[in-house]
Amino acid sequence: MKVLIAADMEGITGVVDWKQVDSTHAEYQRFRRLMTQEVNAAAAGAVEAGVDEIIVADGHGDANNILIEELHPRARLNSGTPSPLAMVQGVDSGVVAAFFIGYHAHMGAGKAVLAHTWSSRLVSNVWLNGKIVGEIGLNAAVCASFGLPVLLLTGDQAACQEALEWVPGIEVVEVKKAASRSAAECLPPTVTHPLIQHAAARAIKRFHGHPNDLLKVDLPVKVTIEFLNPGMADRAALLPIISRIDGRKVELSAEDMPSAYRLARSAISLARD
Ligand SMILES: [Zn+2]
Repeated sequence: MKVLIAADMEGITGVVDWKQVDSTHAEYQRFRRLMTQEVNAAAAGAVEAGVDEIIVADGHGDANNILIEELHPRARLNSGTPSPLAMVQGVDSGVVAAFFIGYHAHMGAGKAVLAHTWSSRLVSNVWLNGKIVGEIGLNAAVCASFGLPVLLLTGDQAACQEALEWVPGIEVVEVKKAASRSAAECLPPTVTHPLIQHAAARAIKRFHGHPNDLLKVDLPVKVTIEFLNPGMADRAALLPIISRIDGRKVELSAEDMPSAYRLARSAISLARD
């Protein structure tokens, strides 16, 4: 049995500030190690429950945060950018379920550490088939299109709440409680690691007994993106497949979720101030 561990950094315990997830800042070196350790805790729980192969997708920034020299020996690491499926790269490699580690809530969520959707400098809102969505819903939808349920998510209380709304039956581990967008009460890693390991093992055992329902996404998929300013939407709308809705909003439609995901990322990568 093979599983995907998709990892981000803003939802790792201790992280409350952009400096801590920015590779040019000295503090970052501490938090990339904590990110690696939370991924390893999930991997250890999965292996304990019978998983024999793990593919890890490094999903933060340029996707080169996880310390491979400290990574669990059963894991293989997808690192670097761009990769076709970005935060869930490896979802098509024969995996049967996914974990989301270190995730954060969508842009606009209240009391949520570093909440954003793809880019805090460009994107103010994203809708999937008319419903406001963040990276949790978008990545879970891509996983579902490959037949994968998301079994476990770790992050702050807002990310856990958002996961429960998008993915019924998901196991969540709250590693911190946000007091604002850049403040939280955080559990120490000596506490989060066993919590994550046990939750991962429990999630895999439950999945064996009763496979989780898949997130349902109606086809064709419609994605609407609202940018922070109209100049960003001007650039995204250079792609012929993108329709302009209003000053800051563009929309696209695709036959399947992976195509919608790639198109939305392309539109955002064109946008700048
Ligand atoms: Zn991130």
